[in-house]
Amino acid sequence: MGREYGLVVDHGKGVNVWDSDGNRYLDFICGISVNSMGHAVPEVVQAAKTQLSKDAHVEFSDFYSEVPVNYAKEILHTMKMPSMQKMFFGNSGTEANECAMKLSRFHTKRQNFIAFLGAFHGRTYGSLSLNASKAVHKAHFGPFLPVIHVPYDYPYRSVFGDDDNSYERILEYIDGVLFKREMPASEIAGLVVEPIQGEGGVVVPRDGFLRGLQKICNEHGIMFVVDEIQTGIFRTGTYLYSQQVKIKPDIVTLAKALGGGLPLGACISSSKIFSWEKGAHGSTFGGNNVACAAGMAALKLMKKKKIGNKVLRDGKYIMKFLKDLQAEHKIIGDVRGKGLMIGMEFVKDAKKAPAPNLSEKVLHRCFESGLILTQAGKSTVRMLPPFTLTKEEIDAGLEIIRKSLKGLR
Ligand code: PLP
Repeated sequence: MGREYGLVVDHGKGVNVWDSDGNRYLDFICGISVNSMGHAVPEVVQAAKTQLSKDAHVEFSDFYSEVPVNYAKEILHTMKMPSMQKMFFGNSGTEANECAMKLSRFHTKRQNFIAFLGAFHGRTYGSLSLNASKAVHKAHFGPFLPVIHVPYDYPYRSVFGDDDNSYERILEYIDGVLFKREMPASEIAGLVVEPIQGEGGVVVPRDGFLRGLQKICNEHGIMFVVDEIQTGIFRTGTYLYSQQVKIKPDIVTLAKALGGGLPLGACISSSKIFSWEKGAHGSTFGGNNVACAAGMAALKLMKKKKIGNKVLRDGKYIMKFLKDLQAEHKIIGDVRGKGLMIGMEFVKDAKKAPAPNLSEKVLHRCFESGLILTQAGKSTVRMLPPFTLTKEEIDAGLEIIRKSLKGLR
């Protein structure tokens, strides 16, 4: 496990968690974007309890239940993408991506995939094969599925190690070099992409990059698979980040906040693509009644509170504060994000050399002062706070971050 410091969570309420010694922390990471409406939300707890006392489980692969069906309908309605008509429920993000990979292969009758340097999609073999954020995830676990990794648009630094960081050259590389020299496009089943890389360092690509990827996929009959597991469910201000950047995935995957804190993942696509035969895919616990009831309660609450607007407003406020900090501290190379998915990249010098010792120090100092954050990429401090933060709670967290920078160079 990649634990960064010794937080032992005993319980949580709202935006706070308490450790087993009774210390209180402001949680600016909420279980890596799972408890997006905060901890122990009364409406979610009540919905889960009610469903638990009715029936927790009905093997949804073999029988029917209204709870997952109603939740699926609500998700599709909220996504506002008419082409998305069907979904498969699993228990996690990695299972959602496994489904997306199987579906891509089944639909195209091709075998290979394209994914990105810096990507993280999960820990089971399909998803693991797509990963390229930290070599430790894959060391000694091969062989993997056939995945070709290409650079991801990283506006802060050129992924080719020179001064030209235009994203067009990555698109040209895929179309002009990869397809011509390494693997014809006609043998690629799917291109799997996070619309913002989370684990890879909260890297926000330019919109044109994502639209360019979609164009390449559409031209060559490649499934455009968008992993919205971290960016989705209002984390970036809209239900899907794809809606903001106006891309139309063939397949979308969701998890994390989907189950209102309980394990749930989904792979979503059109009826045309989801055309596999009866029994081709399934899961014992997928579409679990309690997880779906909790997820539905959380989603209804988000919609009732028009949470997307608040996420965008609070995100802007936090970004402004951090950009002001950046102006005062040379060690903060970049501040980036969308909505409440925010990263601060620490660097050694003007040449932008990553400074993991500094980001680690900030994490530890914040933890000691009662603020929970995590690391992403090589030297980025990541923030995924709950959507329900008050202005006072935001200010309290930001003040801890400001103090944690004291004397660092
Ligand atoms: N995809 C993305 C973008 C993620 O951030 C994660 C987890 O962090 C996953 C997939 C894997 O999800 P899970 O851990 O639920 O399998």
